[in-house]
Amino acid sequence: MIGQDGKPVPITAWTLRYKDVAPQREGLHEALCTLGNGYFATRGAAPESRADSTHYPATYIAGCFNLLRTEVAGRAVENESLVNAPNWLPVTFAVGDGEWLGLGHTEVLSDRRDLDLRRGVLTRRLRVRDDLGHRTLVTQRRFVHMGAAHLGALEMTIVPENWSDRLRVRSEIDGTVTNSGVPRYRGLASQHLVPGRACALPPDGMLLVVQTSQSQIRIAEAVRTRVFHNGVPVSADATVSRQPGRIGQQFQIEMARRDTVVIEKTVAITTSCDRAISDAGIAAAGWLEMAGSFDDLLAQHTMAWAQLWERFQIRLHGGEDDLVLPVLRLHAFHLLQTVGPNTMNLDVGVPARGLHGEAYRGHVFWDELFVFPVLNLRLPQLSRSLMAYRYYRLPAARRAAIRAGHAGAMFPWQSGSDGSEQSALVHLNPQSGRWLPDTTYLQRHVGIAIAYNVWQYYQATGDLSFLADQGAEIILEIARFFASMAAFDRELDRYVIRGVVGPDEFHTSYPDSPHAGIDNNAYTNVMTSWLLLHAIEVLDVLPARRRRELTDRLGITATEQQRWEHISRRVYVPFHGQGIISQFEGYENLKELDWEGYHARYGNIRRLDRILEAEGDSPNRYKVSKQADVLMLFYLLSADEITALLHRLGYDWTPRQIPDTIDYYLARTSDGSTLSTLVHAWVLARAHRERTLEQFIEALRTDVADIQGGTTAEGIHLAAMAGTIDVLQRCFVGVETRDDVLWLNPFWPQSLGVLEFPILYRGHVITLTVTGHTVLVHGGAGDLPPVRVGCGGQVQQLSPGQTLVFRLRQTCEGPAATPVA
Ligand code: BGC
Repeated sequence: MIGQDGKPVPITAWTLRYKDVAPQREGLHEALCTLGNGYFATRGAAPESRADSTHYPATYIAGCFNLLRTEVAGRAVENESLVNAPNWLPVTFAVGDGEWLGLGHTEVLSDRRDLDLRRGVLTRRLRVRDDLGHRTLVTQRRFVHMGAAHLGALEMTIVPENWSDRLRVRSEIDGTVTNSGVPRYRGLASQHLVPGRACALPPDGMLLVVQTSQSQIRIAEAVRTRVFHNGVPVSADATVSRQPGRIGQQFQIEMARRDTVVIEKTVAITTSCDRAISDAGIAAAGWLEMAGSFDDLLAQHTMAWAQLWERFQIRLHGGEDDLVLPVLRLHAFHLLQTVGPNTMNLDVGVPARGLHGEAYRGHVFWDELFVFPVLNLRLPQLSRSLMAYRYYRLPAARRAAIRAGHAGAMFPWQSGSDGSEQSALVHLNPQSGRWLPDTTYLQRHVGIAIAYNVWQYYQATGDLSFLADQGAEIILEIARFFASMAAFDRELDRYVIRGVVGPDEFHTSYPDSPHAGIDNNAYTNVMTSWLLLHAIEVLDVLPARRRRELTDRLGITATEQQRWEHISRRVYVPFHGQGIISQFEGYENLKELDWEGYHARYGNIRRLDRILEAEGDSPNRYKVSKQADVLMLFYLLSADEITALLHRLGYDWTPRQIPDTIDYYLARTSDGSTLSTLVHAWVLARAHRERTLEQFIEALRTDVADIQGGTTAEGIHLAAMAGTIDVLQRCFVGVETRDDVLWLNPFWPQSLGVLEFPILYRGHVITLTVTGHTVLVHGGAGDLPPVRVGCGGQVQQLSPGQTLVFRLRQTCEGPAATPVA
């Protein structure tokens, strides 16, 4: 697997290693070396660095948003952003009268960073020579505690190579940071933090409290710095310095050549949004007081990771490729650092760019659609907690629906703290330098994704209590919204949904139309039919009393349900050519783009929208898509489900039309979103299995090779990361949880070896071992009642401790499986 620099991506088994100090790749390295625990995350920046054109040290706390107002292009815009919290990393040193490490004249002789994915530890080995010729060996280790949400630690070992002198050490907490990690946003207000209390915490600690300017969240960081000289604790004669928003400690130690000084910096981070606290500062100090030594904390942290890896393990035996597995681990690693056990019970959703950078301002989109399938089968309690983020924003979604003249719940395309719409109204095209109106907020399909996720979670877990308490209400209110958007068109004799934007963000209106939105986006419409059918099914599944309670409280009448049923049969789906589902009504009238010409002229044309706008043109005029749109249908629904839905809608369609539809849109998609390659890898499995692997590898390259040329530095692409694990399980192994059966449909390329991973299905730990078209299904120990496992039409019971083997073969009627044992 090759990186953007033409070299193999620097990952082996469990280690991501960067040996170079190329300033242009520093941002990428910082993002991919981010350490986090689902509560907070800190980029892998050098502790001595400050935000500049190369470095961007930053810490983000899940769900900590603040809103600022800026005057842009003559209008006032408000942006809610995930706040860059005070930087707890700064530790630096100087020898005698030499210069501080991190300032211009210190020469870095070597700098190697190793990210240990198994233990969640970032190690940096550094050799430096200062302006006076002092050569020093430095080793830094750090982690963000996976077992104790509020804690992180950094250890720095300093060994003089050629000097004996006075060592000066400075450790700081810097609350003067701003949100300035994304060059495109630099024209926008960025000062979110208001300085608060800064004080020493005797004997060896300090505390900094800041407050976000609008949301008034108090963030407290308490830091303890301990110094050991040749293994002996040095009494902390620290000088404490204070400036508004900043506090620091300074030490001096007399060193002889080859002495060792170890500095342990431990941080406790809390906010006023945490549970069970009165004052964030007191809480942070309390956490710090309880924190053991670096090594003690590290041991607990490593154990927490070991337990997580047991749930998220993937094994590959005897394959030819030695990069697939390490990259999949990197993806699971960053997924769990963004949302993990510490996220449970926090009031947060799934941020599209992780807690790794400021792109999309930390907002929550529909990307959880690509994340939940992985969590549902491994850590379902986490999915449940993340779905609660949506549940508690139902009132905001109801308000939004009413304001838009509809019923039910209209969830925002971009969501932050309170569930109001946070999409930007204008965005900057860096290619033309113009600020442009942004109407991508019309992606109402986000609601369908939310409802779909609730239903899939229920299918995977059988968790009726969640469905009854929260899930059903989410689905019903979203169904109600889509039903209210659907208007009956007499001429078509069908329901139409007008003025929306589909997943493909290149099409936001008709060419030269003054109105935003397009009509009858096929993805939205077909999924509306799916949604309404499932809303009715949800009511059937609920225990009678709960059904009555909900329908009474929400005022859902039999007439309303009949209308849902009717829409689910009569919503309009546009087609063109030989049975190709049209992306939206009128799509066939758009012009074809000269793809070759644009490739030749621009090379990378992923962001055709920016290129065309800079040329004074618009993607709205062409048959070009940023990302999978119609093809999303094949991603979310099985061929049987789509066929059944389209037949129900009265369309003459057969799965034989799938390959042509896939080819049609693949040829017209620029992959401007990292989600696209993922979906394409998936759908190609239906049409051209041999090309699936190619796309899968490309999806694996997304962040590790920074395929978009610079966007990873601004935050990882969480859905693309989680999505690759999902492709592995749902596409290559065919894991599907439907109708109370765990379905399997294995085709795993033999060249990649034997694939093995555990899943959690309805309480059973089930290990799947896959080679080619054969899958071995082993039920873990326990005393739960058996579950049903199906493959190629064969359904068998699986009891704890039992092993089933299915061998899939193709027959004229489709795949059929032989149960072997
Ligand atoms: C994609 C969206 C996605 C968002 C956040 C955009 O580029 O078009 O589908 O939700 O990024 O990842």
